[in-house]
Amino acid sequence: MTPVYLWWIGAAGADHGVLDLVRADAEAAFSLPVGHWYGRERPDDAFDPKRQQHSSTRILRWLADRRPGHTDKIVGITDADLFIPILTFVYGEAQLGGAAAVVSTARLAGNGARSGDIVLATRLAKECIHELGHTFGLIHCHQRGCVMGRSVSLAQVDAKDNTLCPDCWTKYRELQQRQEVTHE
Ligand SMILES: [Zn+2]
Ligand SMILES: [Zn+2]
Repeated sequence: MTPVYLWWIGAAGADHGVLDLVRADAEAAFSLPVGHWYGRERPDDAFDPKRQQHSSTRILRWLADRRPGHTDKIVGITDADLFIPILTFVYGEAQLGGAAAVVSTARLAGNGARSGDIVLATRLAKECIHELGHTFGLIHCHQRGCVMGRSVSLAQVDAKDNTLCPDCWTKYRELQQRQEVTHE
């Protein structure tokens, strides 16, 4: 059983080198098996013509409906530029304590990083781990360097580690244990 899947849902072809780095980092951050999902479907109702961007909330609903069986969490990774109504853009969004997260590469290139670049891969891994953290029930953290810190700029993404701080790790384990008990 794979509890977490990453699913490339972008318009361009997948960069498997980048996705593999994200997978390895996410496995290390949560100490859980993380796999790749290779569905060919793409969310086709998420584009907002007025904003010329994709609604991350609509993509989350789409992902939660298509979550492969025997999996707890699905992280959609896309090259579409994402928004929520109150913000110009978001790097990603997640269902807090839910099944689905989505992260975009669209705003992670720049400041020296191009697509396929290790810098972009590292940023993408951090944002995927951050959004996955939300699906496990973690909220934003103020510890310096913690991956659960809020990031609204590339400088803030680059300043974060790709791991949970000790407090978030403890909280994560508690939330996991509580879930195991509820499942029985
Ligand atoms: Zn967040
Ligand atoms: Zn933390």
